[in-house]
Amino acid sequence: MQLRYSFRMYPSAGQRMALARAFGCARVVFNDALRARETARSAGLPFIPSGELSKQLTASKKTPERAWLAEVSSVVLQQSLRDLDTAYKNFFDGLKGKRPKMGPPRFKSRKDTRPSVRFTANAGWKITTGGKLRLPKVGDVTVRWSRSLPSTPSTVTVVKDSAGRYFASFVVETEPETLPATDIVAGVDLGLTHFAILSDGTKIDSPRFLRRAEKKLRKAQQDLSRKAKGSKNRAKARVNVARAHARTADARREFHHRLSTKLIRENQAVAVEDLAVKGLARTRLAKSVHDAGWSAFTTMLEYKAAKYGRTLIRIGRFEPTSQVCSQCGVKDGPKPLNVRTWTCGACGAHLDRDINAAINVARAAGLAVSACGARVRPGLVPAQREETGTHPKPQPVTTDRQAGISVL
Ligand SMILES: [Zn+2]
Repeated sequence: MQLRYSFRMYPSAGQRMALARAFGCARVVFNDALRARETARSAGLPFIPSGELSKQLTASKKTPERAWLAEVSSVVLQQSLRDLDTAYKNFFDGLKGKRPKMGPPRFKSRKDTRPSVRFTANAGWKITTGGKLRLPKVGDVTVRWSRSLPSTPSTVTVVKDSAGRYFASFVVETEPETLPATDIVAGVDLGLTHFAILSDGTKIDSPRFLRRAEKKLRKAQQDLSRKAKGSKNRAKARVNVARAHARTADARREFHHRLSTKLIRENQAVAVEDLAVKGLARTRLAKSVHDAGWSAFTTMLEYKAAKYGRTLIRIGRFEPTSQVCSQCGVKDGPKPLNVRTWTCGACGAHLDRDINAAINVARAAGLAVSACGARVRPGLVPAQREETGTHPKPQPVTTDRQAGISVL
């Protein structure tokens, strides 16, 4: 199976300039190719094949307007064309119903917050004997190798995040290591009042280090909103917000890693709801905040399950879990979100909304779990104050796609 490993990079001033140039050239090549295809489409001409785009790129390097493209590794530019092909493929597959629908490829902007470039084996990049990352036309960059790579990667992606940090990200082939089998299974309900609720009744909140990072982020955002537009202080405040975002994203990833590893280690099978289905039942505001975190988390569950020989089951359901009693299976209709506990009219069980949902998730996945946890127990953990009534403002969440799924 393939895993992504990410490492912080510390390029020198000159190397940062070279990387900025590479990001810029990759963007221009992507946009030129997208424009060529869009122009052809609006003129009613056939889709321009990748080989043709590649030829156009080579030709454009000989023109004075694009001669500067020669200053960066040609592999980086070719890979940028590949990215465009992938974007088109995803778009077309969405139209055909092979995957969730998504928009057509969009032009990249200089203001994009996560520029990246990819060097394949053809580019001749390597890790030097001194432990530096040698990138063509950039130089030998210092990397903090926080863990060892299980095998030699063929490709490296260099990413710059919104806080101005650089990362080298590798996709590596690894062997799965099967954990000893267990007969414990779990249904997981990803909730609004708690991060996750397990079918055994465990309620899991965000840890304090994450809540603290989120609080700092909100404060930085408030500071920014108070600064006059165009002022120097505003520029400073914006950098602070970007840093706080990066720290929050790191803290969230750390929490997701700990929890997903624990769940996969302790359970033979884990069932979660399909988030696309779950999303239908929620408000837009709450959705934007939570979905990014939830999908990053379920992605981790998925690859860790594969890595350790466990099973992850995603279930799709078309009715909210709160409508069905996990004890007797009677469906007694929707309940407003503020109803946290109720008594089943059919069997008389006193039910906790979240645990009831987690058990229903497990049952829908075909897992045999005991239903006793669904009953309300004394001394439940109260929800975090800021998580109860109001929803926090939507915050962009760094996805693992580029940041790299680090391995515990
Ligand atoms: Zn019942």
